[in-house]
Amino acid sequence: MFKALVLEQQDKQTLSSIQQLDESALPEGNVLVAVDYSSLNYKDGLAITGKGKIIRDFPMVPGIDFAGTVIESSSSDFSEGDKVVLTGWGVGENHWGGMAEKARVKASQLVKLPEGLDERKAMMIGTAGLTAMLCVMDLEAAGITPEKGEVLVTGASGGVGSVAVNLLAKLGYDVAAVSGRPENTPMLEALGAKRVIARSEFTDKVRPLDRQYWAGAVDTVGSSVLAKVLSQVNYEGAVAACGLAGGFDLPTTVMPFILRGVKLLGVDSVMCPLARRTEAWKRLAELLPESYYEAACSEIALEQVAEQAEAITRGQVTGRTLIRLK
Ligand code: NAP
Repeated sequence: MFKALVLEQQDKQTLSSIQQLDESALPEGNVLVAVDYSSLNYKDGLAITGKGKIIRDFPMVPGIDFAGTVIESSSSDFSEGDKVVLTGWGVGENHWGGMAEKARVKASQLVKLPEGLDERKAMMIGTAGLTAMLCVMDLEAAGITPEKGEVLVTGASGGVGSVAVNLLAKLGYDVAAVSGRPENTPMLEALGAKRVIARSEFTDKVRPLDRQYWAGAVDTVGSSVLAKVLSQVNYEGAVAACGLAGGFDLPTTVMPFILRGVKLLGVDSVMCPLARRTEAWKRLAELLPESYYEAACSEIALEQVAEQAEAITRGQVTGRTLIRLK
């Protein structure tokens, strides 16, 4: 038997409960993992509260990411005792996920933990951190080097934003962080932000082209905040867009693209190919300093997940939330 958070649907309401399940209930897969940690992402919040149509088949164990130890494997790529991490692939959405003591998945979905990362650190990074790294890698590939000027991170106190601030600062960029929560300024500065800008400065009227401020940006917010950022990006600058915390629309014009050559780079971590994820995990292990893990993470038990899920959908969670399963 193992413990799991189970989501069920009743009268179109999503209900969550902690249940003891038999291993035979687990979905198909060729690797069985003892989950040590999962984490709470914005998407998990939407799934658990039912505020977003993330899950279509119930009952479902949520948890879009986890790190743990292989217990059984019929794949030659993994053996008992291997330390692994999984993010995305629809796990926790259409295949039982990480908010359980055990998970059965496909070997092709797992990445072996790189040197320097244990299961706890891997989940402090989680899907959010991986996504931040993918955004940074895209900015680098677009030629946005630290010499080009200041870079911006929106939704900076969130999971993706806080890791993006830290990674960019570590790589030598001057980072400006946009946050709606002034109380998080000390944390953002500790993570490496040179300055913190109030979100309200990005919510007033968007002009097609504004003054040029940013060499590049990581945007986790979308909607009019992303439109404003695009209007302020330097000639031939680039924006890596990965999120919709402020809305999924994008009320922009073609002006930044056709008059300034601004590049809008879409970033997806869910179906990201294995080679790119493996590279991203390796870089995360190398780049994130010990101080990141101390400054931007909190830990909860499975029993506290429902309450925190509500909070993350209201934008009230700071940094990363780790879920302890072992
Ligand atoms: P999170 O921890 O909730 O962070 C989102 C942050 O955005 C909040 O902390 C808040 O930061 C800001 N925010 C919240 N509501 C806002 C609003 N109405 N308007 C403007 N800013 C708002 O979530 P996360 O896990 O970092 O994820 C961030 C976004 O990226 C989500 O939309 C998520 O779905 C997406 N995501 C995408 C991928 C992908 O593969 N593309 C992967 C992971 C996450 P401040 O208080 O500092 O402003």
